[in-house]
Amino acid sequence: QHEGRTALVTGSTSGIGLGVARIFAEHGANVVLNGLGNPDEIETHRAAIEKDFGVRALYDSANMLKPEDIAAMVRQTEENIGPIDILVNNAGIQFVSPIEEFPVDKWDAIIAINLTSNFHTIRTALPKMKQTGRGRIINISSAHSLVASPFKSAYVAAKHGVAGLTKTVALEVAEQGITVNAIAPGYVWTPLVESQIPDTMAARGMTEEEVKRDVLLAAQPTKEFVTIEQVAQLALYLASDAASAITGTTISMDGGWTAK
Ligand code: NAD
Repeated sequence: QHEGRTALVTGSTSGIGLGVARIFAEHGANVVLNGLGNPDEIETHRAAIEKDFGVRALYDSANMLKPEDIAAMVRQTEENIGPIDILVNNAGIQFVSPIEEFPVDKWDAIIAINLTSNFHTIRTALPKMKQTGRGRIINISSAHSLVASPFKSAYVAAKHGVAGLTKTVALEVAEQGITVNAIAPGYVWTPLVESQIPDTMAARGMTEEEVKRDVLLAAQPTKEFVTIEQVAQLALYLASDAASAITGTTISMDGGWTAK
């Protein structure tokens, strides 16, 4: 269904973003990867997508902290591949600390990467989407766009912001063939989750096993991590024609977490 279409996925050098980029490529879209990391590893991921799926895969190193980088990435995608049909705002970072000790620069970076970068990709990609009369914007938010956990003030604030941005843009483009939605995963087993375990151990004085059982999966009634593949499949569905009536909403995939 996505043959020849263009999908741009921010933060797709790892974790959920890479899984999402790969599923769109599998279904025929040319993809733009973005994110930080080791250049050799990124090139391996990029080349594998071209080889595995016979589509074009480009990499853009835009830093989501920099509005001018983001605008240039969107412009270059449009010039080098074509208007963006599917925009997935996925780049995100986490930092865990009591608020009175929360480093100010970490707060600013989390708001910039997890929330403001979505504003910049959307505002720069929309004009061409409107011209083509179709588009799918999928924001990877979090269960933390709906509920909170202690010590994650910046992340929770940014993700709640994404829920509001999603609704607002959906209303602005509702009659133009463009849908805007968010996916709110619970805990997905990725490097992001793995890397916050030491900080949570320190903040709560727990062992690694205790953090996994009593903090991470304690919130998730299924007691199972969500998989990258499951999130990618939902993104694929939201980008399909069948999902044209779904807009302005946040869809949870959290093993029952936010039902409580
Ligand atoms: P990850 O750390 O594996 O991937 C994050 C991606 O963002 C990487 O490609 C990284 O390079 C990129 N990135 C970080 N800072 C960047 C910057 N300044 N500029 C450009 N790219 C940057 O993490 P993940 O778990 O795959 O997370 C992806 C998204 O899913 C995030 O928005 C995260 O908040 C959200 N999410 C994750 C979980 C989870 O449990 N893993 C749960 C809910 C939501």
